[in-house]
Amino acid sequence: MSRSGAIQIRCPQCGGRDTHVVCTFHTEAEQLVRRRHCQFCDHRWYTVQSAEQPLSQYSIKWKGKSRIVSLIDH
Ligand SMILES: [Zn+2]
Repeated sequence: MSRSGAIQIRCPQCGGRDTHVVCTFHTEAEQLVRRRHCQFCDHRWYTVQSAEQPLSQYSIKWKGKSRIVSLIDH
Protein backbone atom coordinates (compact mmCIF):
# COMPACT_ATOMS: atom_id res chain seq x y z
CA MET A 1 0.00 0.00 0.00
CA SER A 2 1.30 3.41 -0.95
CA ARG A 3 1.08 6.04 1.77
CA SER A 4 0.92 8.86 -0.75
CA GLY A 5 -2.01 7.41 -2.67
CA ALA A 6 -5.66 7.97 -1.98
CA ILE A 7 -7.18 6.13 0.90
CA GLN A 8 -9.19 3.21 -0.37
CA ILE A 9 -12.67 3.32 1.10
CA ARG A 10 -14.62 0.11 1.44
CA CYS A 11 -18.24 -0.05 0.44
CA PRO A 12 -20.43 0.08 3.59
CA GLN A 13 -22.95 -2.09 1.83
CA CYS A 14 -20.92 -5.06 0.59
CA GLY A 15 -17.42 -4.34 1.93
CA GLY A 16 -16.05 -4.29 -1.59
CA ARG A 17 -12.97 -2.28 -2.43
CA ASP A 18 -13.96 -1.55 -5.98
CA THR A 19 -15.22 1.96 -5.25
CA HIS A 20 -14.59 5.29 -6.87
CA VAL A 21 -15.40 8.93 -6.28
CA VAL A 22 -18.24 10.19 -8.45
CA CYS A 23 -17.83 13.85 -7.50
CA THR A 24 -16.68 16.06 -4.65
CA PHE A 25 -18.25 19.01 -2.87
CA HIS A 26 -17.26 21.47 -0.20
CA THR A 27 -19.48 22.33 2.72
CA GLU A 28 -19.72 25.80 4.23
CA ALA A 29 -17.44 24.53 6.99
CA GLU A 30 -14.76 23.79 4.40
CA GLN A 31 -15.22 20.10 4.73
CA LEU A 32 -14.68 17.92 1.74
CA VAL A 33 -17.63 15.71 0.88
CA ARG A 34 -17.20 12.92 -1.61
CA ARG A 35 -19.93 11.04 -3.36
CA ARG A 36 -18.81 7.48 -3.80
CA HIS A 37 -20.01 4.60 -5.87
CA CYS A 38 -19.41 0.88 -5.45
CA GLN A 39 -18.91 -0.77 -8.79
CA PHE A 40 -19.65 -4.17 -7.30
CA CYS A 41 -23.12 -3.66 -5.76
CA ASP A 42 -23.96 -0.24 -7.23
CA HIS A 43 -24.34 1.32 -3.79
CA ARG A 44 -23.85 5.10 -3.59
CA TRP A 45 -23.00 7.02 -0.45
CA TYR A 46 -21.14 10.05 0.87
CA THR A 47 -18.03 10.47 2.91
CA VAL A 48 -16.87 13.62 4.64
CA GLN A 49 -13.40 14.74 5.52
CA SER A 50 -12.17 17.78 7.40
CA ALA A 51 -10.43 20.56 5.56
CA GLU A 52 -7.04 19.51 4.39
CA GLN A 53 -3.89 20.97 5.83
CA PRO A 54 -2.48 23.92 3.89
CA LEU A 55 1.06 23.27 2.79
CA SER A 56 3.89 25.66 2.12
CA GLN A 57 5.04 25.53 -1.48
CA TYR A 58 8.50 24.80 -0.16
CA SER A 59 7.23 21.50 1.17
CA ILE A 60 6.50 20.25 -2.32
CA LYS A 61 9.02 18.73 -4.65
CA TRP A 62 7.92 18.21 -8.22
CA LYS A 63 8.97 15.08 -10.00
CA GLY A 64 9.59 15.96 -13.62
CA LYS A 65 6.57 16.89 -15.67
CA SER A 66 4.26 14.37 -14.14
CA ARG A 67 1.67 15.43 -11.60
CA ILE A 68 3.43 13.46 -8.93
CA VAL A 69 4.89 15.41 -6.05
CA SER A 70 6.63 14.42 -2.88
CA LEU A 71 6.52 16.15 0.47
CA ILE A 72 9.76 17.38 1.95
CA ASP A 73 10.06 16.74 5.64
CA HIS A 74 11.62 19.76 7.33
ZN1 LIG B 1 -20.79 -2.43 -2.62
